[in-house]
Amino acid sequence: MPQNLLDFDAHALAGYFTEMGEKPFRARQLMRWIYKEGESNFAAMTDIAATLRDKLAQRACITAPEIVREELSDDGTRKWLLNVGTGNAVEAVFIPEETRGTLCVSTQAGCTLDCAFCSTGKQGFNRNLSVAEIIGQLWWANHRLGKGVDGNWKISNVVLMGMGEPLLNFDNTVSALRLMLDDHAYGLSRRRVTVSTSGIVPAMDRLREECPVALAVSLHAPNDKLRDTLVPVNRKYPLKDLLAACRRYLERAPRDFITFEYVLLDGVNDSVQQARELVRLVHDVPCKFNLIPFNPFPQTHYRRSNPEAVRRFRDVLMEAGIVTTTRKTRGDDIAAACGQLAGLVQDKTRRTVQHLAEVH
Ligand code: SAH
Ligand code: SF4
Repeated sequence: MPQNLLDFDAHALAGYFTEMGEKPFRARQLMRWIYKEGESNFAAMTDIAATLRDKLAQRACITAPEIVREELSDDGTRKWLLNVGTGNAVEAVFIPEETRGTLCVSTQAGCTLDCAFCSTGKQGFNRNLSVAEIIGQLWWANHRLGKGVDGNWKISNVVLMGMGEPLLNFDNTVSALRLMLDDHAYGLSRRRVTVSTSGIVPAMDRLREECPVALAVSLHAPNDKLRDTLVPVNRKYPLKDLLAACRRYLERAPRDFITFEYVLLDGVNDSVQQARELVRLVHDVPCKFNLIPFNPFPQTHYRRSNPEAVRRFRDVLMEAGIVTTTRKTRGDDIAAACGQLAGLVQDKTRRTVQHLAEVH
């Protein structure tokens, strides 16, 4: 099997070159071709010596997961379904805005955590994505979108908010993050790359040490009793520990606040009283809130909060001095909105096909 070079971060690629008897700076040259030019054909890399190109062509490849479906929403959102083998697919979503272009990336096929309101959780877990499969989403999306008039890729921000829990696929996620940040690869600023986590406390500490990027934490409830039911991993890492980890993270974070995500579920976590409890809960964590209207999917009994409840909830947070945004639902018509990323989960029976039919 040829070695897929998308599986290497800069350090690992330099090691691979040394093993081949090549100088490490050649690895940086190659990275620029792969990530800055989006090139996957060694023969086209004209400033690399022909002998090295031949050597690479014999033993290595640059292969992003194959796109099996591409959809374009009325609002410009694009969704790609990527085949990651053995009947699995994951999704990546591009959300264009006036001042930035954001790619939402998946890190696992399925998820082990089974949050009550999440369609990915309902699929169960299949496997962790490799580095190539994670960074390959960005590689492909750039390839499909092309460069803007300024000669730069259109993707300026990346959020790890697609399928899966990034911090439970820690090593591969961090290698992919390093490629996003590396000046010889995508060169994105740490502030423009966001990891979203349901609150895996020890891994948040590791991320702070190994690769601090912007952090979003999925809160969804103002107390342990409710959070235990909505985000079951709360039983392992309760709110007190989670908020302490947020404060520690801020010591090294590229931004001076944590973004708390909060999916509003009608009659479950959206009352004014709960908003007040939330304000008390986070009083000593510098934060912003991102309120997410619940995106329904076929197997759920939850409902989206009504706009009036959303407004009242937001007002309580704002009056307490917390910057709060309400996320616009994008890509709804192509099931690309948060928590609707369903993908195809492996299957040799018929479930896959039925599942797709339900979702699309
Ligand atoms: N596992 C990570 C990242 C992926 S989920 C996490 O949980 O943070 C990304 C975000 O989508 C999370 O905030 C999650 O709570 C939210 N989400 C999940 N299902 C949703 C749904 N049906 N509607 C709206 N948001 C949802
Ligand atoms: Fe997993 Fe995040 Fe969905 Fe929870 S919300 S099941 S952690 S993907």
